Amino acid sequence: MFAAHAVQSCEVQSDDIYRKIFYEVADGIVGIDENGIISLCNPSAEVMFGWQPGELIGRPLDVLLPEEVRPHHHHHIADFQSGAVDARYMGQRLANTIGRRADGSEINLGITILRTQTEAGPIMVAVVRDITEVRRYQSELQRLADTDPLTGLLNRRAFKSKAEHEIAQSLSQEHDVSAILFDIDNFKMINDTFGHDAGDDVIRNFACTVRKVMEGYDLVGRWGGEEFVAVVANTSLGRAAEIAEAVRLDVEEQCLLPADGAPVKVTVSAGVTGLNRKEKSLSPLISRADAALYEAKRHGRNRVMLL
Ligand code: GH3
Ligand code: MG
Ligand code: MG
Repeated sequence: MFAAHAVQSCEVQSDDIYRKIFYEVADGIVGIDENGIISLCNPSAEVMFGWQPGELIGRPLDVLLPEEVRPHHHHHIADFQSGAVDARYMGQRLANTIGRRADGSEINLGITILRTQTEAGPIMVAVVRDITEVRRYQSELQRLADTDPLTGLLNRRAFKSKAEHEIAQSLSQEHDVSAILFDIDNFKMINDTFGHDAGDDVIRNFACTVRKVMEGYDLVGRWGGEEFVAVVANTSLGRAAEIAEAVRLDVEEQCLLPADGAPVKVTVSAGVTGLNRKEKSLSPLISRADAALYEAKRHGRNRVMLL
């Protein structure tokens, strides 16, 4: 009884309600005719896209799209026009839907598209929400979740996931994949002698060295403590060993100067290995690099060993 009454009173006032929603809602509402010309636009859409009142009516929808997405977007619209679905929300997909403001800047959009009929013919309506801030927040969260705070390198979890992806891709293209595991020598002694902060400086410094020597290689991470890992794709084992040796040499040539006390000599050992044809994941690669690293330690540290 209550529900029937509610529906009835809603329908009686419908024109007024719809008009108010159209003019007051914070979401933008943009409608286009069969030729892609904007025939409907509410004030929020004008504000969102940076246009003056009334300026958008009569313009092609393309003015709200970055140039590079226009052809793609035309396909989308044609698909939707000929499809069976009357309404679809497009903002939850991982791929961003990008719009363009009047000043040329880009805007991330969550979009619900609808199609309906008017006396003047069919109309497609998009209800658009500015999700630029949400996307920025999401990508900052993702960056924080992937990054080791001390060094700015990938953390172990992010490294593993990106490395597995890289390995799968390299295998499908029959490219070589090598791994390097670095471990700072006698690091416990550095901590014990110069303090934990000096230890942190050594770790940060090492990360800078790796980043500098391995510029162009993205897959470098902090494996844990004073251990670092790199996966280099499309690179021979010999070349990977050369890279590891360049890092080792660079570290050896530096000297850390604590605020008080004598300069600290830091060295690093590395284990290098390549993926065998039978192997399909990171795990055996890391195990063998670790075994090579163990050999480097056993042979006196400050060296690169291959397995
Ligand atoms: P080896 O040459 O065989 O590698 O000896 P090591 O002393 O470097 O190796 P060990 O694994 O015994 O010591 C690693 C130390 O690193 C132990 C741990 O307290 C320290 N450590 C781990 N994470 C951090 C960190 O974030 N900052 C600092 N300052 N120390 C850390
Ligand atoms: Mg260690
Ligand atoms: Mg160590």
